[in-house]
Amino acid sequence: MVRMLRSYAAGAWYESSDAGVELPDASTGQPVARISSTGLDVAGMLEYARRVGGSALADLTFTQRAAILKQLALYLNERREDRYYPLSACTGATRFDSMFDVDGGIGVLFAYSSRGRRELPDDVVFCDGPPEIQSKDGTFVAQHIYTSRRGVGVFIDAFNFPVWGMLEKFAPAFIAGLPVIVKPASATAYVTEAVFADMIESGLLPEGSVQLICGSVGDLFENLTGQDAVAFTGSADTAARLRSHPTVLANSVRFTAEADSLNCSILGPDVAPGSAEFDLYIREIYREMTVKAGQKCTAIRRALVPTDRVDDVLAALRERLAKVVIGDPRAEGITMGALASLAQRDEVQRALKRLSDVADVAIGGDPPDGTGAFFPPTVLLARDPQADVVHSVEAFGPVTTVIAYRDVPDAIRLAALGGGSLAGSLVSRDPDVVRDVLRGVAPYHGRLLVLNGDDAKSSTGHGSPTPMLVHGGPGRAGGGEELGGIRGVAHFMQRTAIQGPPEMVAAVAGRWVAGAPHLSDGVHPFRKYLEELRIGDTLVTEPRTVTLEDIERFADLSGDHFYAHMDAEAAAANPLFGARVAHGYFLVSAAAGLFVDPDPGPVLANYGLDNLRFLTPVYPGDTLTVTMTCKEKKARQTEDYGEVRWDLQIAQQDGNTVATYDVLTLVAKSPE
Ligand code: NAP
Repeated sequence: MVRMLRSYAAGAWYESSDAGVELPDASTGQPVARISSTGLDVAGMLEYARRVGGSALADLTFTQRAAILKQLALYLNERREDRYYPLSACTGATRFDSMFDVDGGIGVLFAYSSRGRRELPDDVVFCDGPPEIQSKDGTFVAQHIYTSRRGVGVFIDAFNFPVWGMLEKFAPAFIAGLPVIVKPASATAYVTEAVFADMIESGLLPEGSVQLICGSVGDLFENLTGQDAVAFTGSADTAARLRSHPTVLANSVRFTAEADSLNCSILGPDVAPGSAEFDLYIREIYREMTVKAGQKCTAIRRALVPTDRVDDVLAALRERLAKVVIGDPRAEGITMGALASLAQRDEVQRALKRLSDVADVAIGGDPPDGTGAFFPPTVLLARDPQADVVHSVEAFGPVTTVIAYRDVPDAIRLAALGGGSLAGSLVSRDPDVVRDVLRGVAPYHGRLLVLNGDDAKSSTGHGSPTPMLVHGGPGRAGGGEELGGIRGVAHFMQRTAIQGPPEMVAAVAGRWVAGAPHLSDGVHPFRKYLEELRIGDTLVTEPRTVTLEDIERFADLSGDHFYAHMDAEAAAANPLFGARVAHGYFLVSAAAGLFVDPDPGPVLANYGLDNLRFLTPVYPGDTLTVTMTCKEKKARQTEDYGEVRWDLQIAQQDGNTVATYDVLTLVAKSPE
């Protein structure tokens, strides 16, 4: 008997002792592994995740978790060739398909590591937006913050992305501080298990932060609480069943779903046969049909084509698809592998039969008999473009339906009949067409791609979700949202509005808030190393009076001779100024002249300004004072320095604020 896949529960590997279910190789039918979770203590896993995993993660800051993700990505990267690709080939995947899944998944770890280190504080709480001032005197403020939930992330994945599916959910959840339980789809779970085993083997992940269920989830759903989150990827039927589970409903368990999606790609009315854009359209459909044998949730299922281009599109697809070589992906020269299982082949055949009631098979059709789950690239032509079946039945394989449209409004209507999709694309060179179509179809989509000769080389393509962009879609696509950079981290956290006096809100948020105390110990803040700086450390500078000569010298130096600074008569007619005013950039420069401590010291560099606003005009004779306050600081894990954000206020002699902004600096860590 082939080996039984193992689950990983409460810090130990678990192997069921029953026969389980055999998982065959998609191309040869030979058994690869068996799967069963009989006897697994799933309720115990939830308890262990909350108690052990949750508290271990709580001891790490966002930047520490992000640094671990990078180490993990490097560790897994080294094992792709020997361990993951051969197993991936058993799922019917070609080498390119395997890279899409395996490298794509590892790429998400790298991407989240980098974003987490750059964009999140070295803390366990992060702020959502600026503070809200809630009283006129500034003694009552509010700040939205994100904290880690005290629950478990339950990740249920589809069979088509055994690696990416796990890692695209794990990466943001790990940074969010949420321990997770992964449940891969049975058919391809042997690939997930191998990668997961290496994640444990690496020793990089805190105890209890990840667990694995190979097989069914048992009574997991009965034991979910309001702090838990389920992230599901799979069919709309299973999503509907799980999201309406009585415990999910009773405890308001967070539930997000990525489900079926009849994604469309639209050929713009401006694109003529023979043009570069026409070829791009054909190439994109070909690619989406053949990569992973069309088993991609984002693949093009509906090709919307102007009525008078239908014959040309079919002819070009016939020519292109004739070159596809289907077979065991381990064999030389194969360009498209098998579907993941015979069950999946039968499923696609059933969907094709339903589609053929309203559409003619123009290319491909029936799969060959035999042990392999092979299916030919198949193109249908809808007899009635409005027929419900072509917009609602998903054949999850190398199948697409060409649908004719009359004009742009008709194309938008037809696209919307999909009831909500993950991804859509439009091939066009006409900005008016692009504007009308994308604005028209955006409410029905999670992601939209415009493709033409200008981005053909650099585009990631219709069907590639990327870590920094949201993945998800409304309606039929599940109504969920994943990824999207730090948005994806926030999905796994709790957002809370904290109200109170500024000092208290600042203490919770880990960021200085206007109205909180200004601290001073007589030492210039630029003389302090990162560790010595306190949030709230403040410098109030000496005053400086602005003169007409300052304005003229700055104009000469910078070359900025805008009339409001240089021409008294014209400036007098300006409705905002009424007289010559100082350059805003002069004020920023003069402020630096006031607050900078010039000698070498802990401050290494200024790397930018954020949120600069000029609020009150400054006239010759006005006297300025700068208040600089340490707002936020963050150590870089791998460097001898960190980042410090300073709140800057430039005020006039009467106390009016002239300008406000954040100054961003790099400050050395203490050499001791
Ligand atoms: P599925 O049958 O719904 O299964 C999806 C996952 O749910 C599998 O892990 C499955 O485990 C699990 N599952 C099934 N019943 C369950 C239950 N009662 N309790 C807990 N878990 C349960 O879908 P599939 O056939 O594997 O996947 C194909 C579908 O996924 C396609 O329709 C495709 O569009 C969709 N998909 C969507 C995306 C996306 O991002 N939107 C990505 C990929 C795929 P078992 O395998 O052990 O049954």
